[in-house]
Amino acid sequence: MKNRRLFRNRLIVVSNREPYSLKKGRSEKSVGGLVSALDPVMRASKGVWVASTPAGRGVKDRRIMVPLDDPSYTMRLVPVTRRDMDDYYHGYSNRLLWPLCHITLDKIFLKQSYWEGYKKVNSLFADAVVEEAQRKGVFVWLQDYHLALCARYVRERRPDLKLSLFWHIPWPPYDVFRACPQKREILEGMLANDLIGFQIESFKRNFMRCVDMELGAGIDVKEGFIHWRGHSTRVRAFPISVDYEWFENAARSKRAERFARRFMRERNLSGRIMGLSVDRLDYTKGIIKCIEALDAFFEKYPEYRERFTFVQVAVPTRKAEPYLSYMEQVRSKVRYLNEKYSTRGWRPVEYIEKRLGHEDLAALYRAADIVVITSVYDGMNLVAKEYVASQVDLKGILLVSEFAGAAEDVPGSIHINPYDTEGCADVIRNAIETEPETKRDLLKVAREYIKEYDIYRWVEGILEEMKEIR
Ligand code: UDP
Repeated sequence: MKNRRLFRNRLIVVSNREPYSLKKGRSEKSVGGLVSALDPVMRASKGVWVASTPAGRGVKDRRIMVPLDDPSYTMRLVPVTRRDMDDYYHGYSNRLLWPLCHITLDKIFLKQSYWEGYKKVNSLFADAVVEEAQRKGVFVWLQDYHLALCARYVRERRPDLKLSLFWHIPWPPYDVFRACPQKREILEGMLANDLIGFQIESFKRNFMRCVDMELGAGIDVKEGFIHWRGHSTRVRAFPISVDYEWFENAARSKRAERFARRFMRERNLSGRIMGLSVDRLDYTKGIIKCIEALDAFFEKYPEYRERFTFVQVAVPTRKAEPYLSYMEQVRSKVRYLNEKYSTRGWRPVEYIEKRLGHEDLAALYRAADIVVITSVYDGMNLVAKEYVASQVDLKGILLVSEFAGAAEDVPGSIHINPYDTEGCADVIRNAIETEPETKRDLLKVAREYIKEYDIYRWVEGILEEMKEIR
């Protein structure tokens, strides 16, 4: 990567979660595309990664060289009390910004302490950034919706730093965004950045319109610039991606073959068409819409009963309301569907409510004849890209909700509207019956694209753009 040297000692990444968790004198790299992609950059640039940690959890040192067995860069921890975490993270971030940006306004719940906590923790992050950015010309790269205000707090004290934010989740249209009581402060906080990245063009356009409507700032949609109070912010789409090579190799591995064989045997899938969906148990993923579409599918196309099995992986990640109720609703929908159609030795949905590792997922992606993504709104949906990268036999087909970033970004995917229940059933049937030649062609196009625009390319694209900041 060309930029590794360029940012030597001058790159600060800021995210809510740590890149490494520390356990009993060992450091374990966090799972996820972002950490995998940035870790090599951080090692080469000897940068600083600022992240939160629960206050009082025996953290003696706030600056730790990671990984412990090969100290390469600094992890700077920001202790956050449980109460502040409840307000800033579980509260404002996940009960206001998350549903707001995913257009699920009925899920919004706001207490005043959430906003107070959000401001407080953003300023704690800013304190750490200012302390770490001793040199001139440091680049600060903020991650995600937890840190909308951080740039502003940094800018007040260090106007010389180059600040950038990547917004991993969608940005909603203005008529949705205006429901946010702190809309002005959020936009002003974000505009302290020199560069703001969104997943796709339409989120970028939504954002620019919100700025226009709310602040009346000067916007240049074509060139992607916002001019506000004497400062210019570049706004651009950078679609996030996956480690293509890793998934391709994992899918081809002996381990994957063994896993898939055992899985098919245990779930009685051999000789049947296998559908697959992999989601966190989150109301934005439209899991219920998917199960309803399957109900319509088996109703309308009974010839597929016993011939088609749908594997739904659903990972519980948040252990509070409204997630607990959503989990109950999903379970009950699956139960209903399975009671309605099951026969001896076959049930329409194999429901797996636990997290699988990427090795196992790669095996399932390779085996699946069709993947269905029914998110009601989604920043990108990495599962879509992981599926494409793992489809080494070119036999599958990818159905993506038109409301997921992946629909705009993955060529060769078939678009579905999760709100059109019977329509989804028809698309599933048509997809299954698509000629193998056509499936191969679609997958080839998708694979070429993701191979070229993988997660490393994504990081590089953003760093290149940061370099251009004046
Ligand atoms: N994932 C996983 N194990 C599972 C289910 C999901 O590791 O059992 C991973 C999946 O491989 C993907 C991520 O979780 O990398 C989900 O990302 P996506 O963009 O699809 O949705 P998000 O959860 O970020 O909203």
